[in-house]
Formats: sequence, structure tokens, C-alpha cells
Amino acid sequence: MKLLHHIRLIVLLAALCGCGLTGSGQTIIPTPQEYSVGKDFFHINDNTSLYTNLKGSEKSNLEEYLSSLPSPFNQGVQNYKKQQSNSIVFALSPSRFHESQEGYTLFVNTQQIIITASTSDGLFYGLQSLLQLMRPHPKKGFQVVCCAINDKPRFDYRGIMLNVSRHFRSVDFIKKQIDVLARYKINRLHLHLTDAAGWRLEIKKYPRLTEFAAWRPVAKWKEWWFAKDGRQYCEEGTEGAYGGYYTQNEIRDLVKYAASRHITIIPEIEMPGHSEEVLAAYPELACNGNSRPGGEFCIGNEATFTFLEEVLTEVMELFPSEYIHIGGDEANRKVWESCPRCQTRMKASGLKESSQLQSYLIHRIEKFLNQHGRKLLGWDEIIEGGLAPNATVMSWRGEEGGIKAVRAGQQTVMTPGSHCYFDAYQDAPYTQPEAIGGYLPLSKVYAYDPVPQGLTAEESKLIYGVQANLWAEYIPSDEQYEYMMYPRVMALAEVGWTLPEHKSYKDFHAKALKEVEWLQSQGYHPFPLKNETGHRPESLKPAEHLAIGKKVTYNAPYHPSYPAQGESALTDGARGDWTYSDGNWQGFISRQRLDVTIDLDSITELHSIEADFIQVVGPEVFLPCEVIISVSNDGKQFTELLHIRRQAERNPAVDFKKYGWQGKTQARYVRYQARAGKTYGGWIFTDEVIIN
Ligand SMILES: [Zn+2]
Repeated sequence: MKLLHHIRLIVLLAALCGCGLTGSGQTIIPTPQEYSVGKDFFHINDNTSLYTNLKGSEKSNLEEYLSSLPSPFNQGVQNYKKQQSNSIVFALSPSRFHESQEGYTLFVNTQQIIITASTSDGLFYGLQSLLQLMRPHPKKGFQVVCCAINDKPRFDYRGIMLNVSRHFRSVDFIKKQIDVLARYKINRLHLHLTDAAGWRLEIKKYPRLTEFAAWRPVAKWKEWWFAKDGRQYCEEGTEGAYGGYYTQNEIRDLVKYAASRHITIIPEIEMPGHSEEVLAAYPELACNGNSRPGGEFCIGNEATFTFLEEVLTEVMELFPSEYIHIGGDEANRKVWESCPRCQTRMKASGLKESSQLQSYLIHRIEKFLNQHGRKLLGWDEIIEGGLAPNATVMSWRGEEGGIKAVRAGQQTVMTPGSHCYFDAYQDAPYTQPEAIGGYLPLSKVYAYDPVPQGLTAEESKLIYGVQANLWAEYIPSDEQYEYMMYPRVMALAEVGWTLPEHKSYKDFHAKALKEVEWLQSQGYHPFPLKNETGHRPESLKPAEHLAIGKKVTYNAPYHPSYPAQGESALTDGARGDWTYSDGNWQGFISRQRLDVTIDLDSITELHSIEADFIQVVGPEVFLPCEVIISVSNDGKQFTELLHIRRQAERNPAVDFKKYGWQGKTQARYVRYQARAGKTYGGWIFTDEVIIN
């Protein structure tokens, strides 16, 4: 093929059109880096032939994928011949034009469609762009607008994590998601295969993991997790047993399916924490051999390492991915402090803190993986106690972990909870099915930039990419999984692929609306974006009231983790959005109460005093159980205007309520007290005390 000729044509067409990159008419998600569009169309019909110069497994991979598409794609792909009209050509062309492994050019004129790339990955992504450009033709087949696209990803790692431990999902469901992840050029699927809620992978050497640790007697995660008699597991086949697992054959099939869609599956095996289910099946691996030990492996016990290495050996046989994720998050290190074996290990290895004991395990496991040609990936806790030398860090507790890792010269994948946790509400909570809390609308995912400000150019290169995580505590069904994923996956895809200068939320939003319809037409269950309520109305403009800018005395302190705007937060007019962690809600835990006095500077006529509170049951943020509003002229003698008492309730999971007084009085000082109940946890959050 006369590749150079085509490249010149592309340049020529681009020059002729002089079209913008992301402007109107651009319909591909994620937005390509360079895109020029003409006026005519290529018509795809049953007579359109497909050609490629791919060989061997790369060719059969492409064929396998094409067979899942409509005609003419499913009619086979022929070995490349000289140019023919009415053809679609996939041309592997190692050339200087494709410096990115996944880059491609897509050229469409009235006679031919030509995709060129230096790898089969690039050809696949060119095909994905083509599929998104296709429109049904009024009479027959499809039409594609003449265009030239020159495209490559911003980041090498563009991932989605599915939590199949909290609620198990079938192989067919995962395949269905892989189809659409590939459409958006996502190239990593991270499966959270093990956690307290259930072990999901057949391990031949440890059958109890799937006979027992994969099943629980209670389906609903919240009921199971908070069960009064503790978290129970049950035997496979018991009546009512809820759970499941993937057999090794199913995994091989799934890995192959993903590979033909250019997605690498990364397995996660949690250690040393989040392993309650393992220890229920093999209690000898817990500290002191406890039968109900919590979720931490005993690091002082050599049997723990035998277990982990034997499990990882089978995992590596099943998953060819370069990376194996070992979790590493949220281990309760206290259990090791009272365990004689762990203490012996610490002394023998000269370790002073329990964080170093975790680090001892991570280092040892990394060495094991490295010896087998694999790399270790872990949540950002793996930095603590000393980062393993070749590890890649997934930064989830904000970006600090990732920044530390790249400053230490190690790769990181950014996945901060603030922008990448798809278990948060995507719209006003009262319009949504129960979720874990938080508020992550499409626009916020889209706005994320995985390269934090202040990194040097060298450090920025170590930002390997970005990942969104769908934790599934509150997601029991296939439909709800999809609802929480889409369309936010599209925004994440564009964060990972498109250069910031080519991004536009307005254009993206218009495309996403159409894409949601397309997903619905294909049997998916996305969030209906066109019905989005959006931000909490109060948060959109500052409140105006008598206490703006007035001095607030804190009779009980706000918590330093949730200061909002500090001492001015409750009288600055800034209102909170749908989540207490947005920086406008102020949090109180000290003696479980909010207690402030506001000085209005002079005796003032008052008609209303009120404040809004938020309830998010998961993290123990509750509406107050007692509210007292009182006023004073001298700041010493207070008169009660309002005194409310109520019972704490777990339902609804997220709620917003105003508690206030209305009437007529005169005063200089206003005291607002709100107290948490004793039944549940004691956080209180408010965003403003509004006085009129
Ligand atoms: Zn121990």
C-alpha cells in the first residue's frame, strides 16, 4: 500500500478543511487528537470487503472480534491485496508516523476506509473510531463521513476496576462490559477478586476458598456486614447461599475475550488486610490462629507466605498481565502488635513499627512476583514503611501517594476517591438508588487531570495513567452496576485518552447524551443523563443573610479534617453540595456536637435562625438528635427559642434537613447547638447558620 501517499492525502484533507479538533460534528468518545471532516460519505454495505496485512494470532484476534460485529464486518477479513474500491483496510505499518503503540490514523474517502497503525492495538482503536462514526444509511447499510483522524492516547494505562467480591457478577456480564470498555479505548480491567465479602477465583490448591469463602448466607451486603451475630460464610450449595466464583476455565476464556478487545485483565488478590474470608476458611493463617480474627494475615507465620505464593502461582498461570495487584490497603496493623509470632518477626528483622511489618510482606511478595517476571501493583498504603523497589502505586487516598511515588522515581496510576470512585452518587441523592455517599457527577469525572500541578516534566512521565473504581457494597444487580458505570466511564476514557487542550465538557456532554441512547439501544442500563438534576441548588450561589461575616465562637471545635473555610465557614454564605466532603460542609465529632455562638455586633431584630444538616449513614454522619437555638443580649444569659429532640434513624442513607426557629425577637448573640444521638456514630455536618 502506498502509505505515504495516504498520509499526504490526510495532511491535504486536513489542510483543505482546516476544521477544528473538537468542534461541532465531532462524534467520537474519547475525542481524537486531530480530526478533519469532509463533506462526502463512504457507504458500507454487504459488498464492502475487509483487508489486512496482520498475520497469525493478531489476525485471528481481529477476526474473532469482527465476528461479533454486524455485516459486513463479520464476513471475514482477507489478506491485503492492492487497493480496491469499496474496502476497509487494516494496515500494519511500522512507521515514524505512529510513535505511540496505540496510535492510529483513520482515513475515509468515498472509495475506501484505511486504518494504519504500527501495532494491532492501534488498528483496533482505529476500528473503534470508525464504528462510532458509522450512521445507518436511509436506504441500505451504513455511511461514514469522509474524514482524516490522527490519534493517540495521552496515557498508556486507562483502567476500570470492578468489585466482584462484594457482589459477584457473571462471566457474561463482565464480557458485556468489556465490549463497551473497548469502544471507549479503555485498556485495563482490574478485577477486585478477593475481599471479606467473598473470594471469587478457583484456586486448585486451596479449595475451601471457593467451597466456603465464596458464599455468605445474606445477600444484601449491608445486612451481612452489620449482622449482629458477626459476618458469616456458608458452604457452597447451602440453601440461600449467596455468592459465586470463576472457575479457572472461565478465567482463561475471559482473559482471551478481553485480549481480543485489547484489554488486559489485572487480578487483585488482597493482602495483608481485607482477607476475612480467607481466614474464615483457613484460620491458621491469622494471628494467634484465631477463628474469627478480623481480616489480617499473620505476617509472623511462614505458612502465610506459602499460602500467598501458592495462590499467586496459580494466578500468574491464569492471568498473563504484566501487573498483579496485591491490594495492600486498610490493614488493621494493631492485630500484629499483640501477636507473638508477628513480634518475633519484627525483632528478627529489626522492624520498629507495624507499618514496617506490612512493608516486609509487600517487599517479599514483590520479590516473588519479580522472580516470575511480573510487577507489583498496590493501593497507596504500600508506600508506608518503605515502598517496594519496583512497585507501581495506585493513588486512591487523594493524589499524595501518587506524588510521593513519582518523586521517588516510581510509576503511579491516579485513582483518587474524589474523582474516580464510581460508587458515589452521580446526581442528587434523593433522585438516586442508595449508594455509599459522596457526589461525583459526570462533569467532575471529566474535569479530572491525572497529572498534579507542581510535578517536573520527568516526574509527570511517571504518571502511568488513570483508573476509575466501581466498589459494589451498595450495587447488588447487573442493572445497577451499569447504571453506576455509564456514562461516567466515557468521561474517564476521555481523561485517559484526550489531551487537555482538546477537551470540552460542553461538546462531550452533547456526545454523551447520544451515547447514552446508543447504550440503551444495545441493552445497557446507563444513568439517563438527560434527566440529570445537577448540583445542590444552595451550593450554586452564596447565601445572603444577617450573619454574613460575623464572628463565630466555637464552644466545641470543628474537626481539623473537615474545616471547610475554618472559623468563617458558617457565616460566609458558601453552601455545601450533595456531599459532606466537598469543602463547604464543616464537620464536628468532638463530644459529638456542634456548638457555636455568633456575635451580630449589635442588638438586632430576628425572624429566623436555621441550619441544614446532612446524613450519610455509611461513614456515620447523622442528622442531629437534639437541636437547641438560644439568644442573648450580653453573651452570658441565653434564652432558649427552640429545643428539638428526635431519634436517630439509619434510613434514608443520605438525607438533608433544615432545623430552625421562626418568630420575632431581638438579640445580639445567637447560639446554635446540635448534638448527635448515642445509637449510631456521631459526626455532625452543617454548612451555614442562616440568620434573618
Ligand atoms: Zn501474627
